[in-house]
Amino acid sequence: MKNYIIFGPPGAGKGSQAVILSKKYNLKHISTGDILREEIKNGTKLGLKVKSLMDEGALVSDDIILEIIKSVILNATGYSGFLYDGFPRTIYQFSALDEFLQKIGQKVDAVISLVVKEEVLIRRMLRRAEIEGRADDADINVVKTRISTYREQTEPLIEIFEKRGNYYPLEGDTTIEKNFNEICELIDGLI
Ligand code: AMP
Repeated sequence: MKNYIIFGPPGAGKGSQAVILSKKYNLKHISTGDILREEIKNGTKLGLKVKSLMDEGALVSDDIILEIIKSVILNATGYSGFLYDGFPRTIYQFSALDEFLQKIGQKVDAVISLVVKEEVLIRRMLRRAEIEGRADDADINVVKTRISTYREQTEPLIEIFEKRGNYYPLEGDTTIEKNFNEICELIDGLI
């Protein structure tokens, strides 16, 4: 089983790439954001608990996220691996994933990072709000909070990934197709 992380700030294009990559490589696409939005849509207890944090652009607690991740990993069958999108977002989440994967005889094989300038991220998220109707994309203040949450809590992970020697930054300010081809080349080179 392969484990790939698609990494980058909100609006970098992780979700778009994850959908097509998971299809091509038979990976289970795990988007913690999508899972949480589904919980909110279905009005579950968990959905109610996380809604206000998501609305303001803050992170949901590590415990909630890790419970979701472990359950998805343990229940997935028929895949060649996992593609994490929007996870890990804190050092704690990464350490827990790392430990969990070790226990089940797996490891993070590669961190594919999409590097995109801040003004492009903001433009993309505001445009995505019109298409997908996500409340946390529509409000410029929430968009800015999400970017600063990323800088403060998620970006420090890069140093850890670099030390592991499996961190692959790619220019993300390009077309979906060009980015996809570059990522496929990278993955094919690793297999
Ligand atoms: P995303 O769709 O990945 O942009 O996530 C949307 C929102 O869901 C984030 O702003 C957080 O509030 C929450 N969220 C998603 N993934 C995580 C995670 N790994 N850790 C904490 N909060 C998360």
